[in-house]
Amino acid sequence: MIASVLVGIRKRSWIALSLSLLASTAAQAAPAADCPGHPDALGTSRTLVVDPREHPMIGTMQYRETLPLADHEVVLTFDDGPLPKYSNQILAILAAQCVKATFFTIGRQANANPEGVRKLIAAGHTVATHSQNHPLTFQKMPPEKFKPEIDDGIASTLAALGGDSSKLAPFFRIPGLLRAEGVEQYLASKGIQVWSADFPADDWRHIPPARVYDLAIKRLEAKGKGILLLHDIQPRTVAALPRILNELKARGYRIVHVVPATPERPATPTEPQQWLLHPPSENVAISRWPKIPNFVFVGTMTLPAPVLSDLDWRDAELIEHARHTHGIPLPQQAPWPRPQLTRLSVAPALPVPAASVFKIPEATRVTMLAASTPVNRVEKVTAAQPAAAGLAVSAKSRGATARQATRIRHAAHQSQHPGHAGPVASKHAEQAKKKPRSVRVASLKKR
Ligand SMILES: [Zn+2]
Repeated sequence: MIASVLVGIRKRSWIALSLSLLASTAAQAAPAADCPGHPDALGTSRTLVVDPREHPMIGTMQYRETLPLADHEVVLTFDDGPLPKYSNQILAILAAQCVKATFFTIGRQANANPEGVRKLIAAGHTVATHSQNHPLTFQKMPPEKFKPEIDDGIASTLAALGGDSSKLAPFFRIPGLLRAEGVEQYLASKGIQVWSADFPADDWRHIPPARVYDLAIKRLEAKGKGILLLHDIQPRTVAALPRILNELKARGYRIVHVVPATPERPATPTEPQQWLLHPPSENVAISRWPKIPNFVFVGTMTLPAPVLSDLDWRDAELIEHARHTHGIPLPQQAPWPRPQLTRLSVAPALPVPAASVFKIPEATRVTMLAASTPVNRVEKVTAAQPAAAGLAVSAKSRGATARQATRIRHAAHQSQHPGHAGPVASKHAEQAKKKPRSVRVASLKKR
């Protein structure tokens, strides 16, 4: 009876599991089915609603937290547009895959191409901002400089959207990712979420599209999920994107569309640890590990800015590359930083240990010598005589008698330090002369 009940329960739970699996498969398949004319589209698997005030800074390239994505979930972001020639092609590629992304626009670009901003909204993407002029000095600008950069960028993009603030996401990406605490605090005070990224694909560099593809896939695979940083103003991005999206689908990745929370649209419920790229696993018995004080991290809300090597910026040419403007007024400065490259020559170095670290206190040495057994007291091999000890060992290993070994050791010592035997050594030598008896090298005892 009990057995049959158990079987019944098992059967029911198996059916429930199967149904939920079917449901999730259907949910994953749904986007492709919802992509008219593109049955093999990658699609957008879900929409994630985030509250900027709860998580003001995201992206593990710079911050502790990132979007609460499941394994194999990817968020696509495009910066620096709109620039019709390339932004329109990016839009077409995303539309063909029914993929939704987040665009960080530059105010001046929005002023020049307001229709480009409206196209982003019309296609269902999230529109956020990226400053008015894209200055690459956010890390050192005073508030009177960075505040108008942020505010004007928002105003320009908003103007392109007819002033409808419901169409503009309170997300901001700092140009060149040149973060500064003052900037982050100002944005947080306005309820704006700072978006770094989890990995770039270096599409602003002078590299072939195949390299952009390689970096995007390689870095995504390394982290398993995250925010990909791209640019919709680069021809190489246009060339690489279709292959990137195809590969994401082939490898089982899913696209997540991120939108801001509103009073009518509450944030997707999440647990705090979901905002970490690699939350502690349930399989690791953390409580069994010793607790260590976390004083190193106290008061440090952010991680240090990534070093250039993290981004694979091994040459300076990217810093100096000139963009084709195609008749569109662009920021006077390049869109990416011109840090003072020191060729990564500042290798971490540890201080040279003081000589005293290696000294054995005199009292200790006496104790060590006294600990020698009477049999081997002649063989007081000290740390100061390693070469002699080595000779003694090799003599023994060749089958020489222990006495020969001792003589060799003494000869070696005298030749190395002619007329300069230390007090212990000379006393030792005298003893050896007076009492020539069979000795044994302690260190050669068989184990
Ligand atoms: Zn940018």
